[in-house]
Amino acid sequence: MSSTLLIKNGHIIDPANGIDKKADLWIEDGKIIAVGKHSGKADQSIDAAGKIVCPGLIDMHVHLREPGQEWKEDIESGSRAAVAGGVTSMCCMPNTGPHIDHAGIARQIIERASQVGLCSVHPIGAVTKNLDGKELTEMRELARSGCVAFSDDGLPIWHAGVMRKALEYSSSFGYMVIQHAEELTLTEGGCMNEGWISTQLGVTGMPVEGEDSMIARDIMLTRRADARYHVAHISSKRGVQMVRDARAEGLKVTTEAAPHHFALTEEEMLGFNVDAKMSPPLRTEEDRLAVIEGLRDGTIEVIATDHAPHHEDDKRCGLSCAAFGIVGLETMLPVSLDLVRNGVLSLSEMIAKMTSNPARLLQLDSGTLNTGSEADVTIFDPEATWIVDRETLLSKGKNTPWHGKQMTGQVTHTIKAGRIVFENGTIHG
Ligand SMILES: [Zn+2]
Repeated sequence: MSSTLLIKNGHIIDPANGIDKKADLWIEDGKIIAVGKHSGKADQSIDAAGKIVCPGLIDMHVHLREPGQEWKEDIESGSRAAVAGGVTSMCCMPNTGPHIDHAGIARQIIERASQVGLCSVHPIGAVTKNLDGKELTEMRELARSGCVAFSDDGLPIWHAGVMRKALEYSSSFGYMVIQHAEELTLTEGGCMNEGWISTQLGVTGMPVEGEDSMIARDIMLTRRADARYHVAHISSKRGVQMVRDARAEGLKVTTEAAPHHFALTEEEMLGFNVDAKMSPPLRTEEDRLAVIEGLRDGTIEVIATDHAPHHEDDKRCGLSCAAFGIVGLETMLPVSLDLVRNGVLSLSEMIAKMTSNPARLLQLDSGTLNTGSEADVTIFDPEATWIVDRETLLSKGKNTPWHGKQMTGQVTHTIKAGRIVFENGTIHG
């Protein structure tokens, strides 16, 4: 018995196919069968009048904490948070315990995510064993087990010789290396951007050169290796410019921005706000505007959250000792919609940065509404307003700088492989 789901009257935006129009979307047995007219009958329908219907969002930078730190987050809670935020595929970083530095762990994560059945999880394999920056992992083996890229995120690939080998080796089978760009000898002991606010608060800062010098080094190595290099969570003006120049030169350099880096500045730290502590840190207004310009002109192709859940105990211990990172899955879409409201991006351009662009970089078979593809679909009301309440977030992490703030734009339905997994605030597990 086949089953047909009709999403009617919505405004469909599918950047990969250049679709941006009011139309119906038909799904049968978990697959997209038609955008527009179709002669069949629907078993189930959703009225999407006034709403945007787009491919399920992809977040290519998430920390799921399983295995090893399940009190912070696990694959199930992370999947619930994801679909509440309209995300149907996410990539998880390897700084778990054990690390994703061998094939068995990667397979275990994929298996667990498919048992949960809400959101696809694609592991990012570690570049080095134990993430200690010294010895390369069996990268090809990790790729065979389902990893989609390589990174030591949480930490930089600090050793230049190891980075060179990683770039050369991964590019031999078309994979990219994702760098958490931070020169630790410059940022050690720092807990926020170095500048007048860190001075005023009397805390150690992380100079922007910590990020910039690593990006500069890596671009030189990428040129030499003719490899694919991706800068995670770019936050600095010079960093964006270096990526822009490298791309103009024809190098295979890409980058992503996190919503907090284009929405907030280091001023959030005033009052010793631990929920604005992350790495790279929130920077100056000049940096924020440069990230926005990078998004506008296409230098930055992807929006990704760097979702980093922590337990209260790791956060409520003073600015210097608090863990780095904030949760982001459930606020990614409304925060990013500000780029559309402010005229930086069209809705289609913004959606591309969370669907078809990351899918292309990671060679994922998702991020479009292609006929015949698996029906991962997100429906959102761009005008609906809601207040972020850390207590009602589905992530186990409550560390958000947006607690108590009003968001405009709300996910109403998330559909995974044709099944409604999130509907008006409720998860259908
Ligand atoms: Zn990172």
